[in-house]
Amino acid sequence: MNYVSTRDNKNIVSASYTIAHGISKEGGLFVPSDIPKLSNKDFEKLKLLSYSERAKYILKLFLTDFTDEELEYCVNGAYIGTFDNDLPAPISKLGENVNILELWHGPTAAFKDLALQILPYLLTTSVKKSSSTNKSVILVATSGDTGKAALEGFRDVENTEIIVFYPENGVSQMQKLQMASQKGNNVNVCAIKGNFDDAQSAVKKIFTDNEFKALLAENGMEFSSANSINWGRLSPQIVYYVSAYIDLLNDNADLSNGFNVCVPTGNFGNILAAYYAKCMGVPIDKLICASNKNKVLTDFIKTGTYNRNRDFYLTTSPSMDILISSNLERLLYELSDGDDEYIASIQKSLNETGVYTVNDKIMNKLSNIFYGGYCDDEATAKTINKTFNEYGYLIDTHTAVAVNVYEQYKNETGDNRPVVIASTASPYKFVASVLSALGETEVDGVFENAQKLSDITSTAIPTPISNLKDATVRFSDVYSKDDLYSAVKEKLSIM
Ligand SMILES: *Cc1c(COP(=O)(O)O)cnc(C)c1O
Repeated sequence: MNYVSTRDNKNIVSASYTIAHGISKEGGLFVPSDIPKLSNKDFEKLKLLSYSERAKYILKLFLTDFTDEELEYCVNGAYIGTFDNDLPAPISKLGENVNILELWHGPTAAFKDLALQILPYLLTTSVKKSSSTNKSVILVATSGDTGKAALEGFRDVENTEIIVFYPENGVSQMQKLQMASQKGNNVNVCAIKGNFDDAQSAVKKIFTDNEFKALLAENGMEFSSANSINWGRLSPQIVYYVSAYIDLLNDNADLSNGFNVCVPTGNFGNILAAYYAKCMGVPIDKLICASNKNKVLTDFIKTGTYNRNRDFYLTTSPSMDILISSNLERLLYELSDGDDEYIASIQKSLNETGVYTVNDKIMNKLSNIFYGGYCDDEATAKTINKTFNEYGYLIDTHTAVAVNVYEQYKNETGDNRPVVIASTASPYKFVASVLSALGETEVDGVFENAQKLSDITSTAIPTPISNLKDATVRFSDVYSKDDLYSAVKEKLSIM
């Protein structure tokens, strides 16, 4: 199988090329030239396999230039011994038809681990295949979860060096501690004075600076990307939707009318993976796209107009505070039946004016497959409270947005078929918001609050969070946003 760019489908490359390069040279995203199909025979086989074996089975269909040995090395390294009980994506039930797919049992307690545990293996294998001996330098700008998950994934991975930039005052206390105490000999963490957009713009500028690239090459290095537009992050996410279906089958769930999937969405990566699983033959009916008050996607799904010219809100579900959902471009490419010129034109419009409207053909498919809804912080808090009181089940703010929007969907449509709701973070990452949703007052200190949450809900603090209490802070440098060039040079010891 090959990959093509969404903005020029005569640009055809291999799987390993897309993973090593991240983005196409004219700015498009790489998508598979055709989507592999799973038959009932495949599903029967998958029923007998562990998560890492299922991952190998499915990734093999997409990463066709990887050998069996290479794939085995990648999935075993990523999924064996790294998640609680070697179960990266277990399901909990809220009543008969509501299945919560818990994606936060990894080393950083957010769903980003499912992709960022395997990406370093896929990336280094891909780079080796291109016969490059250069060291890969990963630059990451983060608003919280991605930075820590990338650090944990790349730590001490041979021939890589990772530098993460986060806004000094833009992440939760727990997230800051997680990053500042990161272990490993190839990791660097820099706080910057500025917001997430400043970090993101500065990183992009360095990334595309030809002089800087040449300097790196002289020193035997090259830049690589770990952000969510890399196919090496998206393809591992397809696995857990297929795996959830197999688990439901093994559990004898009644799936005669298929099932729905509901995902709390920001950059559109996670829900897009569910769409690919549907295209592969997993009997998913509706894809329910849940947003917080930054509801650019809800409006798009309802009207066909994407408009990022609007107020930006900071919410209690910060990982979804985003107005440009980059991975949407891949969906629109599929819905337009691969019309690269059309996609290039609407993306140009987005860059220049912040707006585009899709044509009727795309709009019809979009509204058949997707439902978009949103809820604000107050409704998010109420949902956390209600879910805990009714089911004794504790959810974080992002998952609560999804549970709330799923209920809106069910009330509006009466569609009662089984649903899989993606649960994207442990409640202990957002402990202040969760405590307050339960009607409790905060005490002093982030670990004291975590203990309080644990005591009143009889739930356990995840080990990666409780371990932070005794962790040593290794990184306390704060840089001005104009000094990132020298910061990168200093960290890489190049002049
Ligand atoms: C990143 C993130 C999201 C949004 O996922 P996308 O793939 O960007 O749509 C939702 N919840 C949490 C906790 C996250 O970290």
